Amino acid sequence: MKPQSVPSYSQGAQDKALLAMTIGQAFDRTAARYPDGEALVVCHQQQRYTWAQLARAVDLHARALMALGLQVGDRLGVWAPNCAQWFISQFASAKIGVVLVNINPAYRLSELEYVLKQSGCQWLVSAGSFKTSNYHAMLQELVPELAGQPAGALDCARFAELRGVISLDPEPPAGFLPWAQLATLGGEVTDEQLQVREACVQFDQAVNIQYTSGTTGFPKGATLSHHNILNNGYMVGESLGLTASDRLVIPVPLYHCFGMVMGNLGCVTHGTTMIYPGEAFDPGLTLQAVAQERATGLYGVPTMFIAMLDHPRRAEFDLSSLRTGIMAGATCPIEVMRRVISEMHMGEVQIAYGMTETSPVSIQTGPADDLELRVTTVGRTQPQLENKLIDAEGNVVARGEIGELCTRGYSVMLGYWNNSQATADAIDGEGWMHTGDLAQMDEQGYVRIVGRNKDMIIRGGENIYPRELEEFFFTHPAVADVQIVGVPDAKYGEEIVAWIKFHPGHAANELELQTWCKSRIAHFKTPRYFKFVDAFPMTVTGKIQKFKMREISIQELEAREPKAMPST
Ligand code: AMP
Repeated sequence: MKPQSVPSYSQGAQDKALLAMTIGQAFDRTAARYPDGEALVVCHQQQRYTWAQLARAVDLHARALMALGLQVGDRLGVWAPNCAQWFISQFASAKIGVVLVNINPAYRLSELEYVLKQSGCQWLVSAGSFKTSNYHAMLQELVPELAGQPAGALDCARFAELRGVISLDPEPPAGFLPWAQLATLGGEVTDEQLQVREACVQFDQAVNIQYTSGTTGFPKGATLSHHNILNNGYMVGESLGLTASDRLVIPVPLYHCFGMVMGNLGCVTHGTTMIYPGEAFDPGLTLQAVAQERATGLYGVPTMFIAMLDHPRRAEFDLSSLRTGIMAGATCPIEVMRRVISEMHMGEVQIAYGMTETSPVSIQTGPADDLELRVTTVGRTQPQLENKLIDAEGNVVARGEIGELCTRGYSVMLGYWNNSQATADAIDGEGWMHTGDLAQMDEQGYVRIVGRNKDMIIRGGENIYPRELEEFFFTHPAVADVQIVGVPDAKYGEEIVAWIKFHPGHAANELELQTWCKSRIAHFKTPRYFKFVDAFPMTVTGKIQKFKMREISIQELEAREPKAMPST
């Protein structure tokens, strides 16, 4: 008889109880506990709030949203870069049972139209403009009725449910409701009315719709409950050991769960100060915020940490107050982790792994994990969750074998908004969310992410995991960042393309890199093609869009080496 192998299944710790409350209740609890503690610092708006001040602002705006007619279950879109109003909208809507719809600040007309329609937003909070996007102009084009009708009484052909747009611009065009007017509207609803409303809100109700980044396919609205995201923020903060003395710099976008769950809710559940360094990520502004605010924690996706490490003025900023933080959202290269620990004083930095659909974090390294585990794995299953790895037939694989990662527990989303087919495809009958990520679990339950299902390159029958190759290129002294993609090839089925970003002042050519590879890795893993770039195509959350890189590489190769490409 074959000996029984240990299955790749693990359950997180059970000793930490989940919070049985709504987001509004958790926020009020912290505000009551630390009224004079600093809650929020928004560097680019020169705004500071204590918890008591923030609670007053949240309550006022919750009452204003009620005055606008928003009911439990209605949707409020937010289309803006990081700012104080983003935070206030998040917590004001949660208090009154309204579902916040996060709209990617980089979206343009067609994407905005899609999410507004798909989610059926009743109201939208919009910035005036951001970077090269003129939000007002786009809204005027999509909703021409805005100019001719009073805000709040919109009758719009394209968006049947939309009643109005609140603008963060102090002087918006006709038809937009200025944010400042919410303060007056808030006076129309009493504290008692707000309390009555809050009592109707249950923690299992939907509180948030987040459209998945679009690294693959069409955006789907992951619908998350109070219970999902409040507890995930709480568990992430617990793992970091956050307290009311901590000060966390949040340069990641609020529209993504990294900002609004791991950042805002992680801090709100622990009384930790939130510091937004800028509207969007900027390495210099982030380093400056850490130094000026004496921050103890810092979040970022790997590319953000690389940009901070390579910043020409990094030495001017005193980062010695830092102790912890999280690197997550994409593969965290070992070399980058090591440098963050040694050069940015983040001795307790942790890696987190997750996806929007699981609120997001399901696996995280812990404070007790030794350095090697913290830099080479994404950690172990988070408290109160389960993870397993399965093969193509759905069977659990043995420890050490590669399988698709599946997650079950409190953090799994309610489903995709108005898309029962996609929900059924993602969450099976036993409640497992199928992540599409490939992973390995060791004897102690530590997980290594080896790539996405679709990422795997098969060249001449050999499986190549981009993650492994990327780690390898990070050991080259000239390489600052690297992404590996596969392109179709007439002879081998697929060939490898390495997109490489060099450290400032460094370079290497294709031949030098291939020669360097040859003595160090198996021949079939040596990239046939290289592309040298200053930046990778990315979503605003810093997620690399490999499908775009693949498309670009294919186009370029078709022009350069048509014979290598398979005939169609
Ligand atoms: P999103 O839903 O936008 O947060 O994207 C989730 C995806 O990001 C996951 O399915 C993974 O492919 C990737 N991801 C997140 N965290 C990590 C990590 N620590 N290591 C590798 N990949 C990650």
